[in-house]
Amino acid sequence: MSSNFPLNKDQLDNLIKKFPTPFYLYDEEAIRQNMRKFTKAFSIFPKFREHYAVKACPNPYILKILADEGCGADCSSLPELMLSEMAGIKEDHVIFTSNETPAEEYKYAYERKNIINLDDITHIEFLKKHLGKLPETICFRYNPGNEKTGCNSIIGKPEEAKYGLTRPQIIEAYKICKAEGVKHFGLHTMVASNELNPDFFIDTAKLVFELASEIKEKTGVRIEFVDLGGGLGIPYKPDQVAVDYDQIAQGIRKEYDRVIVPAGLDPLAIYWECGRPITGPYGWLITTAIHEKHIYREYIAVDSCMADLMRPGMYGSYHEVTVSGKENAPKTQVYDVVGSLCENCDKFAVQRQLPKIDLGDHVIIHDAGAHGRAMGFNYNGKLRCGEVLMRPDGSFMQIRRRETIDDLFATLDLANVKNFN
Ligand SMILES: *Cc1c(COP(=O)(O)O)cnc(C)c1O
Repeated sequence: MSSNFPLNKDQLDNLIKKFPTPFYLYDEEAIRQNMRKFTKAFSIFPKFREHYAVKACPNPYILKILADEGCGADCSSLPELMLSEMAGIKEDHVIFTSNETPAEEYKYAYERKNIINLDDITHIEFLKKHLGKLPETICFRYNPGNEKTGCNSIIGKPEEAKYGLTRPQIIEAYKICKAEGVKHFGLHTMVASNELNPDFFIDTAKLVFELASEIKEKTGVRIEFVDLGGGLGIPYKPDQVAVDYDQIAQGIRKEYDRVIVPAGLDPLAIYWECGRPITGPYGWLITTAIHEKHIYREYIAVDSCMADLMRPGMYGSYHEVTVSGKENAPKTQVYDVVGSLCENCDKFAVQRQLPKIDLGDHVIIHDAGAHGRAMGFNYNGKLRCGEVLMRPDGSFMQIRRRETIDDLFATLDLANVKNFN
């Protein structure tokens, strides 16, 4: 578990009187403190910016907090670009790292002067065709193929991933764009997800720095920023350790001094587009135990399900589970903690050692502040839960309401269904 839940039993009980479970709770102060640590670590570079991956927690209140801490946004769709705009994020602090992008979305990003990160060499022509010209700034996403090994299972091997350009393509792409009059260039790569080993990111930076230097040599294009993507992990399991931002920053700085400075590319801006480590540990899914079941296994059912948090069901991911008021109680039981979806993978915890849970207990699912509510869905007619923000002064604010049945049926043409036969 990477961060302690901020409320004791009385405080949570009071909150639940106002906001019935299930809901997500986010801790603003903890998000801010973590962001400051991240920024401080990377202040050893002449230019640095984190572009928060909007998909991890697409709520404009969260984006506004992060923007206040100096973040930009990383978007992969038009609604995400719109959310960044709603949060007041400066246009050129928004990176559009999309793939298989429809023309209207490129157009929207171009008109708002967001930075466009192209996922393929054919998209140069695609942009010209649909925008009439190329933007002043272009970034390309590099796929290192079998140059990069040791990648973990969520993203898989780079040579099997659909993203980015190959090495020969990317050299060619910069040549073309230079000839077309593009003025500013960036280089992006993202090859990890939920990776906890700092050396992995230092090694990725080395690869990208060497490529930036090769691009300068072969094409005369000066890369002005490298975007190292996301993928920094968080310690979901109690025995895992959080990545040390300073260690990563200092390791990357060494490669910067070794490769970037002699290549004449200093100052080079370092960008990240992390989601998980920025909000993941500071969000919780708060539920109530509503059923217990004693069959071949012991089950505790809560008033939420994988429609609110699909990571355990989808990836078999571990999320720490605690019971409000029983944080220090002996873990005498082994439970499957389950939701109400008609899918047997709908289990927040499997065969987990926990204190005895009574009906009405508040069961807290940890590390849900990134890729949590965002990945929700409506299968089985499930209504996704709302989101509550704990402000630095300890007050609470609803930043998204719970879905209603009307929301669920809004896309159906109900007026005509009666007469349909
Ligand atoms: C998902 C994603 C991110 C964020 O990943 P995290 O694991 O949340 O840090 C960043 N960039 C791109 C292109 C992504 O697809």
